Order: sequence, then structure tokens, then C-alpha cells
Amino acid sequence: MILDLQEIKKISEERKKENLRFISFLKGQNSAKIDVLVHKLNGLYTSNIDCTQCGNCCVHLRPILAESDIDILIKALKVSRQKFKKVYVMTDEEGDMLFKKLPCAFLKGKKCSLYTSRPEDCSSYPHLYKDNFTSRLYGIFENYAICPIVFNVIEELKGKLNFR
Ligand code: SF4
Ligand code: SF4
Repeated sequence: MILDLQEIKKISEERKKENLRFISFLKGQNSAKIDVLVHKLNGLYTSNIDCTQCGNCCVHLRPILAESDIDILIKALKVSRQKFKKVYVMTDEEGDMLFKKLPCAFLKGKKCSLYTSRPEDCSSYPHLYKDNFTSRLYGIFENYAICPIVFNVIEELKGKLNFR
């Protein structure tokens, strides 16, 4: 298992072409069978990787916010919706609400200071427990260089599928 973020970044540069070949390979596989493997590997790595010692997704990615996430966040921060949106929220060209600041304003060291009130998009990241892995390949591989869970799941998946 590799956890060092610099090493993961370096390997991801080196394996760009290999990962593109792996994406093509995965497209030809049985989707349900891949989901079973990915869910199993995700369970293994999420239980062995401590997100409170990482926080790299909060440094590099902006979660999409729902109004229901904002309901919870304003309660936790004891601020008005209007003030919260003015200070923390922006809208992208697709109309999605996102946090303005990157790294996230609520990241303290490597931990989320609002962990129990964090948005659903944060708590469900990196989304590997969801079905249809082979329909979401490009989005998932964008997280390969960022998230040690994604990196290790994909590397072990290559071995399990005798890719290489
Ligand atoms: S709210 Fe917490 S979990 Fe979500 S991006 Fe910010 S620091 Fe990370
Ligand atoms: S989800 Fe991935 S990138 Fe985010 S803190 Fe956990 S291991 Fe790190």
C-alpha cells in the first residue's frame, strides 16, 4: 500500500499511458464483476487508510453543495444562510454551488473541522462504493493522483485482472 502523496503524484505521472490503456481494458470488462471487485478493494483500503492523516481531497477538490448541505453547515457554524453563501459559496458555469476557497476553508491541518456536518459530496468521496465503476472511469481516474484510496484500489485491481 502506498500512502505518500508525493510518491503517488510521481507514479501517476509515470503511469499516464498505462492508465489510459487500463481505462480501455476496463471498458471491455463485465461491469457487475468489476463492481464486486472494486467494492471489496474499497472496503479494504478505506478501513486501512486514515483520512484524518491525509485531507488531500480537501486541498485539491471542491465538493458540490446542495441546499440540504448548507442547512447543516449554517447550523454548525451558527451563521445566516445569506452570510454563509456570501463568504463561502460560489456558483460555477454549470450552476453548481461549490466552496469558494481551495484548500477548503474548513480544513484544519489535515482534518475537516466540520467533520460531522460535512457535505454529502465530502462524506461519499471517493465514491468507489457506488455501482457502475466502468461507466465512471474518467472521473474516477482523475482522482488517482489525489486520493490514496483510489490509487491503491486501482493498482490492486490491475493485479487482480492480470492487466500488464
Ligand atoms: S467540508 Fe470538510 S471534508 Fe469537505 S472539503 Fe471542506 S474540509 Fe474537506
Ligand atoms: S478520501 Fe482520499 S484524498 Fe480524501 S482524505 Fe481520504 S484518503 Fe485522502
